[in-house]
Amino acid sequence: MNHLDATHDPALRSWVVSANNSANDGATDFPIQNLPYARARRAGTDEPWRIMVAIGDQALDLAAAVLAAEHTEAQAAALAPLVRGDLNAFMARGPADWQLVRASLSRALAVGSPAEAALAPCLIAQSALEFTLPCTIGDYTDFYTGIHHATTVGKLFRPDNPLLPNYQWVPIGYHGRASSIGISGQTVRRPQGQTLPPGSTTPQFGPCKRLDYELELGLLVGTANALGEPVPMEAAEAHLFGVVLLNDWSARDVQAWEYQPLGPFLSKNFATTISPWIVTMAALAPFRVPFTRPEGDPQPLPYLDNAMNRASGAIDIALTVQIETAAMARDGQAPATLSHSRWSEAAYWTAAQLLTHHTVGGCNLQPGDLFGTGTLSGPAAGQGGSLLELSMGGKAPITLPNGEQRTFLADGDRVILRGRCAAAGAAAIGFGECGGRVMG
Ligand code: CA
Repeated sequence: MNHLDATHDPALRSWVVSANNSANDGATDFPIQNLPYARARRAGTDEPWRIMVAIGDQALDLAAAVLAAEHTEAQAAALAPLVRGDLNAFMARGPADWQLVRASLSRALAVGSPAEAALAPCLIAQSALEFTLPCTIGDYTDFYTGIHHATTVGKLFRPDNPLLPNYQWVPIGYHGRASSIGISGQTVRRPQGQTLPPGSTTPQFGPCKRLDYELELGLLVGTANALGEPVPMEAAEAHLFGVVLLNDWSARDVQAWEYQPLGPFLSKNFATTISPWIVTMAALAPFRVPFTRPEGDPQPLPYLDNAMNRASGAIDIALTVQIETAAMARDGQAPATLSHSRWSEAAYWTAAQLLTHHTVGGCNLQPGDLFGTGTLSGPAAGQGGSLLELSMGGKAPITLPNGEQRTFLADGDRVILRGRCAAAGAAAIGFGECGGRVMG
């Protein structure tokens, strides 16, 4: 999972050349070194959903591509679930097949491929597609690994004791709601709920007044583990298939009233939005960085520690949040940037640690299970991954470039998450966009 091979060669170029040559221009999120998976179809049709692989601004329709080209028996077996549009079944086959298909796609899409003529008709412009969830998500767990987020939010609620004592020992999380996970482009209805007005002892019922987003990444489980059989750190990475952007929409006023003693419930279960393209763990290999702890912090317990995790357990992904208000959309203004942060700086635990911790008591994971990382806020003021942080709990409104102000989201606001990886000696890759709009 962690090693570099010919598919990562920054010198690789694709024969896929669109009007703007976007597969090879260095600015695309989807050069040949990325090869992320989505489930899509031509927009506005009732065609069956098909598994696609992004290349530049195009998408390769795998069902068509497999028919058009010749394969070995091993390739055909690995590709069969993708032809059926069943990404869960492909994820269940495991890293050897994931690697086989990645290598095959890389060769087929590279300059000089003998498959070019056969595969060119299997390309569709991404702009002509509509997307659905890339796989069936059976269970969804949201972690709380953003230590700067946890500290800032903790200060708002408990000024003297922002970080609870278990935080540095246990990857904190809760079991979320899979049924309300939607795909980028969705419109989110402002939830109603119970809130406790300031100074009151009796709650009121009505529309959420403090609607917020959370900048997170989503980790998709590839292979299952059996009930009662924990996954040790050494094996954890091999169970992870890939990463998406994730917006954990949050009703802060509902959350404040309901969250004790068992954690968030209705404040989080009305909508979660993910980006359509799953960037595989294999594609992220060039962007590995060491996992470190600040001086003086406890080291992880042995079951959450190993040499590989210390050497390269973290992944450096640069993250951005933007907002486009209804007025900005109407006036043709570009979305405004709200914050920047990096996964490797924001998170207190790595992907492997989350997977191992999740299973340590015997919990069984299934192909397509989703982990949210928790809000990935940077260490500096202004790097908060939610409006709760950026507006200091609603006390300090943010002024947007067109003069509008926000403490929390207004109807018609669109929130856009982006992620991008760059490293010396590697082709830069990205995640596309995770956008969602508040109905208004
Ligand atoms: Ca969250």
